Amino acid sequence: MPPFSCLWSEGVVATVRPQLPGDIDVDVCIVGAGYTGLWTAWHLRQLDPGIRIAVIEGAHVGFGASGRNGGWVQTALPSTLVEIAARHSTDTAMLVHRTMVETVASIGAFAAVHAPEASFVHAGQLQVARTAAQVKRQRAHVADHHRVGLTEHDLRWLEPAEVDERIGIAGRLGGHFTPHCAVVQPRQLVEGLARACESVGVRIFERTRAVSIAPQRVQTDCGAVRAAFVVRAVEGFTPDLAGHHRDLVPVFSLMIATEPLSSEQWRQLGWNERFTLSDGRRMVIYAQRTADGRIAFGGRGAPYRFGSKTDDVFADNLGTHKMLHSTLVALFPVLSDVAITHRWGGPLGVPRDWTAGVQLDRGTGLAWAGGYVGDGVGAAHLAGETLAELIVGHDTDRTRLPWVGHRSRRWEPEPLRSVGIRGAARLTRMIDAAEEVGSHPRLRAALLDRLL
Ligand SMILES: Cc1cc2nc3c(=O)[nH]c(=O)nc-3n(C[C@H](O)[C@H](O)[C@H](O)COP(=O)(O)OP(=O)(O)OC[C@H]3O[C@@H](n4cnc5c(N)ncnc54)[C@H](O)[C@@H]3O)c2cc1C
Repeated sequence: MPPFSCLWSEGVVATVRPQLPGDIDVDVCIVGAGYTGLWTAWHLRQLDPGIRIAVIEGAHVGFGASGRNGGWVQTALPSTLVEIAARHSTDTAMLVHRTMVETVASIGAFAAVHAPEASFVHAGQLQVARTAAQVKRQRAHVADHHRVGLTEHDLRWLEPAEVDERIGIAGRLGGHFTPHCAVVQPRQLVEGLARACESVGVRIFERTRAVSIAPQRVQTDCGAVRAAFVVRAVEGFTPDLAGHHRDLVPVFSLMIATEPLSSEQWRQLGWNERFTLSDGRRMVIYAQRTADGRIAFGGRGAPYRFGSKTDDVFADNLGTHKMLHSTLVALFPVLSDVAITHRWGGPLGVPRDWTAGVQLDRGTGLAWAGGYVGDGVGAAHLAGETLAELIVGHDTDRTRLPWVGHRSRRWEPEPLRSVGIRGAARLTRMIDAAEEVGSHPRLRAALLDRLL
């Protein structure tokens, strides 16, 4: 295995930005220069070109998940449309769906102008089923979403021969496909977004850590920012902030990348378009065919750290990277000799009820968005646009979506938190292993659903 290094940083000409020079006054202070913080800044300046914005970033633009992710620009949120329909209504679920379809298109339109290096390609998403249990789950997923209002165009079950027309995957029993997904080079997207923000007058300060966030004041290690509105956009790093230790847990998602494959290897794989790929196991895996002809392949399963620690060093987990490599080879046996050139990881932000949220408290001016689990590339754009509308006081379809104002309950204190999370991870692996050999471990699955 190669040393720990992120493929997406290669060839990126990163701008080095100044630290906060001392105390300043602005209208809006945003903490965190990932997608959430920067889309909020971008949309704010579109709505009010005179608004004064400072973005405070502890490391550099794209240091967090936004510069390290799998590059799937999806319509998915951590809550499925079926769950949203059950909690609210089918009309609400379909409004969420239409809004997310528009969001993916908006990111594509933005990238074409401001981040062409992000190589945005809209080619859909394929999930294959490789066990009988996965077939059952995926067929039900498609049928349930059709009942909510999606059509065969939005989401459809594929028979094995139809999967074969798209890609050659060992052990495929079927799958399902949606056209509503794109891929990007994620770091290039966040870099392009930061440059676009600066071009419209947003000030970004790097290597400036917020040590406390209070109404109208962010205290950093380089000075204080006074602002009418303060936006907290630090996702997986939220537990490090005083007063927010149990709001989200950081779960590390890890990735590997192959060397560029030859055209003969791509021909053997039959993976001709740049649709994203996963299978139906519960311990999520995800892949993209990169613009430079590699497979970037990721998955969850890295150990949770007691006390919700987020130090970067925790993303370096050789065991999980080796496991990802063997999963890649199990899916594509022809790649058994292909070199792995990069391995890296980063923290997701997971709320206790797996439901993302967007909030603005008008009384204090404090705002927040996040809790996207592994679905934040698209969702953070919608969250940022919504926060901007809330801050300038616009009432739109977006500001009336059900995640606006949603508050998740807090995570349990330690040691209960780590016992629960590690237990759920172990159970997930056991269920996947049982399903691999043809079992349907219903009791364990019910227990897992209850734990999550
Ligand atoms: C390996 C991996 C793969 C993923 N794959 C996908 C995918 O394919 N599709 C998808 O939709 N989602 C994916 N995700 C999730 C997605 O990347 C995130 O949901 C999204 O990037 C979150 O953006 P954000 O701006 O909210 O947070 P982040 O990008 O994490 O940004 C938070 C920023 O806040 C800064 N910060 C933290 N604390 C402070 C402080 N005290 N002061 C100042 N700054 C601070 C951090 O340095 C960081 O830059 C993946 C995530 C990971 C880690």
